[in-house]
Amino acid sequence: MRVVNTVADLRTALSEARLDGASIGFVPTMGFLHAGHASLMEVSVAANAVTVVSIYVNPLQFGAHEDLASYPTDRAGDLRTCEAAGVDLVFAPEAEEMHTADMSTTVAVGGVSSPLEGASRPSHFAGVATIVAKLFSIVGPCRAYFGAKDWQQTQVVARMTIDLSLPVEVFACPIIREPDGLAMSSRNIYLTTDERAQATVLRQALLVGVELVESGETDATRVESAMRDTINTASLAEIDYVAAVPAQTLVVDGPLDGDVRLLVAVRFGKARLIDNAGCRTIET
Ligand code: AMP
Repeated sequence: MRVVNTVADLRTALSEARLDGASIGFVPTMGFLHAGHASLMEVSVAANAVTVVSIYVNPLQFGAHEDLASYPTDRAGDLRTCEAAGVDLVFAPEAEEMHTADMSTTVAVGGVSSPLEGASRPSHFAGVATIVAKLFSIVGPCRAYFGAKDWQQTQVVARMTIDLSLPVEVFACPIIREPDGLAMSSRNIYLTTDERAQATVLRQALLVGVELVESGETDATRVESAMRDTINTASLAEIDYVAAVPAQTLVVDGPLDGDVRLLVAVRFGKARLIDNAGCRTIET
């Protein structure tokens, strides 16, 4: 496994693979890697001749009062995780390499960027789309792997890829969870022992929502209300949003019908956790 820090070195390292027409798989990350990230790498390694992982804490996707300065890092551990997953190349640029002072271009995706995370974190998805477009341009992958954990992000990236005719196939891989159901996240490290114990309510609320939808409930507000009640059993939980929405648009436009996504964002102290689950309304 090679580790490179500059765009020029990455391009040189990939030039042979590109000349040979070898398939390049790509997994963008912000580091502090866990088994969720490793699962994306393993899918890529199995499907592509070369797998590239980027490790870059993207300042553009953090709001002014968010956790950019305290975002956890563990470069040695990350490289071990990449190596164990069979990754060929790690791209770990410094901020100056990715973001020159005179950078003036933003990729803004409309529609699916607007609700939920987009409403809570106004500049977040423009920051994500800009850096993902830039990384796609740098790496030139055939396939890119994202986690369904960030469901709305995968929809935004898929939309951008279609709209800009980027020659990349985007995959959403399953959410990897701790044994008690908490979705793995680099931000789980912020949780105190009590918060960590209570954080399982996110998954419990999603299961309550799935159960309701799959037993015939099509009123999004009733599903959301039951999910809220579950989250509110945790005294340390502070709900940001709870949503039962059509899986593609993420905006309710009448009774739920077809593929539904249930999404939650909940604060526990310093940690803002997100999770989601898919389900389908019953055919009538
Ligand atoms: P991050 O480092 O948090 O930006 O995440 C990098 C990629 O890993 C994103 O595509 C995430 O959706 C994905 N990811 C994060 N956590 C998980 C998880 N628990 N299961 C699956 N994928 C994940």
